[in-house]
Amino acid sequence: MKALMYIGDQQMEVREIPKPDGPFLVKVLGCTICGTDLKTWKQGHPYFKPPTILGHEFYGQVERTPEETGYRPGDYVVVAPYGECGECEMCRSGVPELCENKDYVTTGAFCETVEVPLSFVERGVIRLEGPDYVYALTEPLACVLTALDQLEIRPSDHVLIVGGGPMGTLAAMTLLEQGIAVCVGEINPDRQAKLREWGIPCDTTDAWYAKEKFDKIIVAVNIPALILEAVNKVRSGGKVHVFAGLPSDTVLPIPAKALHYRFVQIMGCSGFAMPAFRRAFAMIKKNPARYQALITHRFPLEKGQEAMETLAKGEAFKIMIEP
Ligand SMILES: [Zn+2]
Ligand SMILES: [Zn+2]
Repeated sequence: MKALMYIGDQQMEVREIPKPDGPFLVKVLGCTICGTDLKTWKQGHPYFKPPTILGHEFYGQVERTPEETGYRPGDYVVVAPYGECGECEMCRSGVPELCENKDYVTTGAFCETVEVPLSFVERGVIRLEGPDYVYALTEPLACVLTALDQLEIRPSDHVLIVGGGPMGTLAAMTLLEQGIAVCVGEINPDRQAKLREWGIPCDTTDAWYAKEKFDKIIVAVNIPALILEAVNKVRSGGKVHVFAGLPSDTVLPIPAKALHYRFVQIMGCSGFAMPAFRRAFAMIKKNPARYQALITHRFPLEKGQEAMETLAKGEAFKIMIEP
């Protein structure tokens, strides 16, 4: 089968590799590029050593299955790239996102066919009514919901999202749907225009920023200085969420006064657990058109390199790779 391989140093290449041969196979119809994929392509990643197949936000069609799963070849599905065990210490202590015994699909999904371990099918696969590519966004939305849960947002909260990339935008869309006052801070004028087109308030003027007060701030840009700024800016008693990943050796200079005298809480998360994945699926199902708008580009597998370059230039929100 064909696979779009990340071969290191900002290089993607389509290679012929052996097709998986497990009992449950999914033919990938589309997989969106995640910020993590882009970061890996740009600068490498400790978990994803080249040559490897990236991509984990995908939907597809069952290609092979034993009868007992209840699926038939041809069924459309969205698949969680991993899922918690439900039994380990982390799962039992209410942090399933940190499960120590996760099940994973066997490879990345920038390829023609992905194997799902049989033991994970019941938990990790959701049936679709038809071939709708929007469901590739289930995984990123699940990650966003995890962050919003942590922030315990109340109806009266005023929320600032720093960064109007795909994750910041998904967070804004979700909060707006719940009637929460939200604003996105985004400096790229093209992105600002898109956000406004989608009915998402965004503003970056200094005067506006100086007068606004925020109960919760989500930092969805990987710039440490913006986290410090958020800590200083958030209302006393408010919360700051470090949602964008930073290099693992980054140390944040947080003023103790903010924590001790101003009761500011700082938190962060990455990934999701299955309840959030299922909620994300239900949310997209309720309003697919709204989420579809986020997938601004679609590229065939062969143009994977061009897709990465387009995303790196900031010209797209979500790009889908279609094998
Ligand atoms: Zn992702
Ligand atoms: Zn677990």
